Amino acid sequence: MSGLVVVGAGPVGLTAGLAALSRGTPVTVLEAEPPTRVRPGSRAIFVHQASLRTFERLRPGLGRQLAADGLVWSTRRTLWAGRQVYARTYGRRPAADLPPFTSLPQTLLEERLRRAYEEAGGRIVWNTPVTGVDPGPDGVRVRTADGGGTDASHVVAADGARSAVRRSLGIPLAGTTSGSDFVVVDVADAAHPLPPERVFHYRHPGVGGRNVLLVPFRGGWRVDLQCADEEEAADFAGDPDGWLADVLPGHEVTWVSRYRFHQRVAERLVDGRHRVLLAGEAAHLFPPFGARGMNSGIADAVAAVDAVADGDVGRYDRERRAAAWQNCRAAGAACAHLLARGRRDRLRQRGAALLAPFWEPAGRWLDSAPFGPPLRKVRY
Ligand SMILES: Cc1cc2nc3c(=O)[nH]c(=O)nc-3n(C[C@H](O)[C@H](O)[C@H](O)COP(=O)(O)OP(=O)(O)OC[C@H]3O[C@@H](n4cnc5c(N)ncnc54)[C@H](O)[C@@H]3O)c2cc1C
Repeated sequence: MSGLVVVGAGPVGLTAGLAALSRGTPVTVLEAEPPTRVRPGSRAIFVHQASLRTFERLRPGLGRQLAADGLVWSTRRTLWAGRQVYARTYGRRPAADLPPFTSLPQTLLEERLRRAYEEAGGRIVWNTPVTGVDPGPDGVRVRTADGGGTDASHVVAADGARSAVRRSLGIPLAGTTSGSDFVVVDVADAAHPLPPERVFHYRHPGVGGRNVLLVPFRGGWRVDLQCADEEEAADFAGDPDGWLADVLPGHEVTWVSRYRFHQRVAERLVDGRHRVLLAGEAAHLFPPFGARGMNSGIADAVAAVDAVADGDVGRYDRERRAAAWQNCRAAGAACAHLLARGRRDRLRQRGAALLAPFWEPAGRWLDSAPFGPPLRKVRY
């Protein structure tokens, strides 16, 4: 095999596959799991406009289809101790434009990407865990768990946070992990659904003054509860019905998980011979606030395929590593805001909450700070 091999059929690997096909580059995706797998939970629900545009460009109609599949809300609310202090409703947009985002479960996004990739003639080899790669001067040998392997000109490793490819290259992740834990709960739409609005609660009285984010997506709601530590998160995750009734009454729990805030980037995004390119969570881990993880992985995938086609893999390492660190810093700012560990940070938040009902900038700051600096200031 002399073409491109993509490891992993997650959102990033499938985007790399679509990008390769759109350039006429022969490509094969190797996936560890079977085609019948069930991926749990909503996970990355927020697809930015830039990603929709990418999909539309790679496969005309796909961005629009995803936009229509998802949910687009126009109101954001911020509450402090149960009382609304800020709300913003955006005007209608021209129907011909792609929306600023769409909110849909990652499973649905993956299903659509997979279908688009296969319809475009792409091939996925399922049940094929990759155990490592051996880059050489003329190509790269991809080793698989069955003891065999395949040869490729280049590899895009999109095999997720525990990337076997990254480990086989001995590339460590630099960065930090915060000590705070989040519980994430998916709930199904109730018989009488609430209006689809993004709501951020500072110090929700129903959960002992913890911060809670509510985000609607097509078919349900995603609830993120901020906890002090692992133990507390385990308690809340163990009994979601016990507290959810106070946060989102009348909804049925469909998935519960926990996560930590990681701000980590691989020390190099390419191997020494410029044959293997790490993309998505194989290359970096960000906190989910700000929806940078998957969206930046989609940008990685396209940049990786472009860099291979242009014969400038070094550019990929420079540009996407810089983008990953920018995302880390932005996510770090969001993380520091949410944790509000210092007295000054807490006073600032409280002051903004007092001012917000009367002074729009305070409300806007309180509303947007948990998501980090605006994306127009951060390349993702
Ligand atoms: C609880 C939770 C909540 C999240 N919330 C958000 C959020 O709100 N916003 C956000 O942006 N992101 C969120 N994420 C992260 C988001 O899910 C990831 O950014 C996204 O899945 C990354 O895509 P990926 O393709 O890089 O990796 P993955 O989705 O992990 O896909 C990797 C693929 O590679 C395959 N694979 C793994 N190892 C091998 C191997 N050795 N050989 C072959 N194939 C292999 C896997 O089976 C999988 O198909 C969340 C994640 C979790 C777990």
